[in-house]
Amino acid sequence: QIQRALRTLSIPLERLHIMKGHMIEDMCKGLSRQTHAQAKVRMLPTYICSTPNGTEKGNFLVVELCQSQVRTLLVTLYGDGNLSPQMMYKIYDLPEGITQGEGEALFDFIAQCVTQFLSETTSSDTDSEQCLPLGFVFPFTCRQTQLDKAELLSWSKGFNCSGVVGKDVVELLQAAIDKQAGPDKEGEASGGSGWFKSRKSSQSAAPSQSRHVEVVALMNDTVGTMMTCSMEGRACEVAMVADKGSNCCFMAEAYLVETTDETSGRMCVNTEWGCFGDDGALNDLFTPYDQAVDEESSNPGEKRFEKMVGTLYLGEIVRHVLIALTAEKAMFTGTDAAVLKEKGVFTTQHLLEIVNNEDSITEVRRILEALGLQPSERDCGRMQQICRAVVGRAATLHATGLAAILSYMCQTRDLESLMVNVGVEGELFAGYSRFEEILLSVSRLLAPECMATILASRDGSGRGAAMVTAVALRLAAQRHAVDEVLAPLRLSRDDLVKVQALMREEMDRGLGKETNPSASVRMLPTYVTHTPDGTEKGDFLALDLGGTNFRVLVVRITEDGITMASEIYVIPVGIMQGSGEELFDHIIDCIIDFQTKQNLVAQMLPLGFTFSFPCQQVGLDKALLLTWTKGFSASGCVGQDVVQLLRDAAKRKRHLGMQVVALVNDTVGTMMACGYDDPKCEIGLIVGTGTNACYMEEMKNVGTVEGDQGRMCINMEWGAFGDNGCLDHLFTHFDQVVDETTINPGKQRFEKLISGMYLGEIVRQILLVMTEKDLLFQGKPCPKLQTKDIFKTKFLSTIELNGLALRQIRAILNELELDASFEDCVLMREVCQTVSLRAAQLCAAGLAAVVEKMRENRGVDQLSVTVGVDGTLYKLHPCFSNNLQTTLKDLAPNCNVTFMLSEDGSGKGAALVAAVADRAAN
Ligand code: ADP
Ligand code: MG
Repeated sequence: QIQRALRTLSIPLERLHIMKGHMIEDMCKGLSRQTHAQAKVRMLPTYICSTPNGTEKGNFLVVELCQSQVRTLLVTLYGDGNLSPQMMYKIYDLPEGITQGEGEALFDFIAQCVTQFLSETTSSDTDSEQCLPLGFVFPFTCRQTQLDKAELLSWSKGFNCSGVVGKDVVELLQAAIDKQAGPDKEGEASGGSGWFKSRKSSQSAAPSQSRHVEVVALMNDTVGTMMTCSMEGRACEVAMVADKGSNCCFMAEAYLVETTDETSGRMCVNTEWGCFGDDGALNDLFTPYDQAVDEESSNPGEKRFEKMVGTLYLGEIVRHVLIALTAEKAMFTGTDAAVLKEKGVFTTQHLLEIVNNEDSITEVRRILEALGLQPSERDCGRMQQICRAVVGRAATLHATGLAAILSYMCQTRDLESLMVNVGVEGELFAGYSRFEEILLSVSRLLAPECMATILASRDGSGRGAAMVTAVALRLAAQRHAVDEVLAPLRLSRDDLVKVQALMREEMDRGLGKETNPSASVRMLPTYVTHTPDGTEKGDFLALDLGGTNFRVLVVRITEDGITMASEIYVIPVGIMQGSGEELFDHIIDCIIDFQTKQNLVAQMLPLGFTFSFPCQQVGLDKALLLTWTKGFSASGCVGQDVVQLLRDAAKRKRHLGMQVVALVNDTVGTMMACGYDDPKCEIGLIVGTGTNACYMEEMKNVGTVEGDQGRMCINMEWGAFGDNGCLDHLFTHFDQVVDETTINPGKQRFEKLISGMYLGEIVRQILLVMTEKDLLFQGKPCPKLQTKDIFKTKFLSTIELNGLALRQIRAILNELELDASFEDCVLMREVCQTVSLRAAQLCAAGLAAVVEKMRENRGVDQLSVTVGVDGTLYKLHPCFSNNLQTTLKDLAPNCNVTFMLSEDGSGKGAALVAAVADRAAN
């Protein structure tokens, strides 16, 4: 009989493997949005995503509700890497009966402990900072929705206070603390709704006697243990409490925690594995003794795993084994064993004394006799075996749960093997000498791919709770400071509506003959009066100057479509910024080289010239350069006819193979190229190195050109929008600095908020300020970031890529010799998002003005129009086009705007303009 009893208590390895599998299944169930509600292993999110970084500083209060005590702790951190935190603590016994009474009484008592502790440990003059942040360790199952918001789901461990389940326990504690502070203090307390407000207001207020305590974080004891073990520079990512109850928490990949919106990084999940088996998953391991213990408990059928492993139950399990064996006459034969009927006579303390005393039969006899039993020699031996079996099983089951968690972590992190620190604490861990050995050996057998190192938590959960509180405050302070830096870059809908209205005003001004000179948007006529109709034909040369590359192209337009060949040529900076003659001579050299290579020297081909700089066009082939942009500054060109400059150069070089017929802005080229495929395309937009737009305007509105018939494409040159000061209210410190360092300060102000040449620079300026404010890189100076243009606009694209692993962001930053932490990467992404969002929104506000004007022009309620778009920023940035389109829909709801990407608009478009002109000329 005794052998049979011992056998039911020992679990073979295959069964443990099966149990581990069940545990993993249940964990997944708890994490998934669909199945979370039914899951027994709740996998509760804790909203703890960061571990201490050592810069935490200040006083932090912790109050911990334990089985029969309230523990208070005051931790002082010095920002020195948390090497030598100063700690003071005090323990208060819970009054008799309070665990079964009213909830209010319990929280009032906790608040009293806090007040008393504070009055004993701090004198009012030691610290002028009045607001004291508090971390609350509350070891019961809660549904947490924020770090400081947690609704109690159920009591356990013998607690059953009324009026608490379903309530936010943070709020209950805060209310009780505020009540302690007295009615005169209450106003002050509730007046400061957040930590900052209360702290700020306290700086000017006269020091008062009691300090305002604010509950900023709530956590489970398991989480506190993990954070306690996370100190001294090593990360602890799993914690287990093997105590009266049993529980475990670990750092899970945040995207797996579907019950929260957090997707990047990791979040600590409180498994609440004590309830494992409540759906029957443990039935085959549950012995009749466990059954009896469960039935006698206050919550039968619940917390079945906990009842097999928690020290609250181990003594009871042994007692039921003894009852059964006595009834079968296998033990205590012929003696009176009625005392065993009494619940709780045999305690876990007895149990631990017996198992830790390997060979002392006398110890067993002493304990049993003290209970009033008369054991024989054989009874004592058996007693020893039973105790070892029960407590050994508890350790083995803990190890199996741990193995499940380790394997799950290893799998979900895509690792072949996992090395991890596991913080452990609790009565069973501290009291059973073989616990750690069993934990390690069994979990190793069940999860051989994982290597766990056990860290004993000597300080319990209090120190960790202080750290959580400190980290929470650090993050809140940082959030506040980050928002302050980024606020000027965040535009409201009203801001955008205003920009749209301003753009419209400037457009009207630019179109008017008299008002044109004072407009920042020049609204240049292009002498392009029609978009393609599809009948264009012939071979054309095209030049593309003013983009990233200078190109020469040949374009063949036939009934079957368009074919092109092109070559990229380099314009050395010396020529870009040298004399005009040199520049145009160089261009002709490139054309000659191209025609030679393409075997096109014998023909005289019409040439369309895409020239992406603002020009005062007076005819299709006559255009005076108004100003250089984008890094060009060749002398002797501004005010000259660019077509003539090109013709003169051809003459100098005696090149007869071409005839310049049209000068085209790249926006116009883009519109024409898309117009060839979509007749509704009557707008061109560029968002690349610079930004600009053009659209088909009614001739009668174009005051700067004679004639009222038909339409003409207007090159807006909207990059200069705001150069007359009308956007000054939008410019931030960062925009100001970026503008000042360009070769054209004060010019192209709209462009400098939007286009690729500047976004990286804006981000760099923000990062510099954030570093200075200690918000990034822990305030370490970063010389590399001082270099102009080191932060490329293409980095924004990479960093903002959805779902990009943070380690890839890190790699980019490492390239810049920036040593970025995980949190730095998250912040960096936010900065990039803010800058690119603003750019897209401003671009949308400009476009909204354009499409709304076209709709009015045509007198329709609803306008359907297509925008031909070019530019690498628009094409390659992961969010720009989406943000642009969403904002445009919002700002111009009566326009149905389609966006069409232009394929080589500059080349194709210039040829199409030439073709349309050619057709008109013949
Ligand atoms: P351009 O406007 O000079 O004709 P592009 O349209 O190719 O030429 O734009 C080039 C600009 O696009 C570069 O100056 C750079 O700022 C930006 N850029 C380059 N790569 C990316 C990228 N991956 N994401 C966003 N912007 C980019
Ligand atoms: Mg371009």
